[in-house]
Parts: sequence; structure tokens; C-alpha cells
Amino acid sequence: FIDDNWVRSDQYHNKFLLKDDAALEHALQNSTASGLPPIAVSAAQGKLLYLLAKTTHAKRVLEVGTLGGYSTIWFGRALPEDGRIVTLELEEKHAKVARQNFEHAGLASKIEVRVGPAADSLKELPSSEPFDLVFIDADKPNNPTYYKEARRLTRKGSVIIVDNVVRAGLVADPAQEGEFVDGVRELLRDIQADAGVEATTLATVGEKGYDGFTYILVL
Ligand code: SAM
Repeated sequence: FIDDNWVRSDQYHNKFLLKDDAALEHALQNSTASGLPPIAVSAAQGKLLYLLAKTTHAKRVLEVGTLGGYSTIWFGRALPEDGRIVTLELEEKHAKVARQNFEHAGLASKIEVRVGPAADSLKELPSSEPFDLVFIDADKPNNPTYYKEARRLTRKGSVIIVDNVVRAGLVADPAQEGEFVDGVRELLRDIQADAGVEATTLATVGEKGYDGFTYILVL
């Protein structure tokens, strides 16, 4: 469910705070034209991810769930010249569209797309090259696995961000069952039991509905 008022509010704020970006627009249009689902982060959320990457002076970003690379391009915009992004995607078709979008954005040299189940791709990444920021936004039942791998691949001061943790309040509704809400619930228990992090959930409401991010700082 998406309320018109939420959409109008997002658009109102964006008008003041976001600049037109042809490459980001192209990424969305090309993704839609290629038949990808409209499940990228919103523009305002993308800008938040960009600002968080800048604020933390991130140089190495790991993304789980590429789709057409919309959020990846936001990160690419935030990174310094020698910055690098590794983004993981299950679907070859999504990866292909994403690579086109990275070329178009002039960011292809900074971004490596690895295709396959993210749980496998993550295991191939060495902890000797930790990431400054990890964005988890793929299949929700695997969130606990992705969190465990993200912890292995980060260091003190790194940030891990997980998307879609509120789901219009369904995650907190005891009447709800199923692997989507369970994946988030288990993730929250894992974070609670992890003495090496501090975290909070920031609920978001806007053109992508009522959802939220969990923001985790590695201590
Ligand atoms: N981060 C993207 C953005 O905001 O532009 C949106 C990512 S979309 C919500 C989730 C993506 O995760 C989809 O492209 C889907 O194919 C991918 N995905 C689903 N299961 C996966 C898995 N097991 N391993 C890797 N990627 C997966």
C-alpha cells in the first residue's frame, strides 16, 4: 500500500534537496524497459545511502542485491576516484542491465558485478580486504547469512545497512509468519546477540511505501 500523500511528500522534499541526475534516470528507465521489477530504493533513499557513504568516507562498498544498479550508482557517485564497489546479483539478466547502466554512468571501472547466489559469492570474498560499507538488499530470508558474512568482511568503524526491515509494520506483527518476516526477525536477534555492533532501525515512508533500514556500526 502506498498513500498518495507519502508520494507527494517525497516529491516535495526531493524538489529542494535532490539534483537531476541523467545517469540515475537512465538506469531506472533502462531497467523498466528491460522488464526488471520496480523495487530499487527511492531517490530520497538513494541520496541517503550516498550521504552515508560520503559521511563515513567509504572507499570500499559491498552491495548484496544489484537489480539494475540504481543504488549502486548512488554509491558510485559518493566514492573517491580510487573507490571500489563489489555488487552481488543472482540473475544474469539483472546483472547485464546493471552493467549497461554503469557504463552509461561512467562508473564501470569502479564496479564489479558478481553473478550467482550471494551466499556463495560472499564466501569467496577474503576478509583481508574489508569493506567500509555494506548494503544488504537481496532476498530477505537470507538476511542472517548475509549479516554473518558482512561481519566477517568488515572492520571497526564499518557500517552495515539492511533494507526492508519494517515491511509496513508486518515484521513486528505477531500474527505474521513466513520466511520474509522471519529473515528480519532472526537478523534482529543476531544483532542483539552481537556485542561487536551498535544498531538502530530507521523507519521510512514515501514513494516506496512504509518500510525501513537497519543501520549497524561495527565497534
Ligand atoms: N539494491 C537495488 C536498488 O536499490 O537499486 C535493488 C535490489 S532488489 C530489491 C533485490 C535484488 O536481489 C534482485 O535483483 C534479485 O534478483 C536479487 N537477489 C535475489 N535473491 C538473490 C540471491 N540469492 N543472491 C543474490 N541476489 C539475489
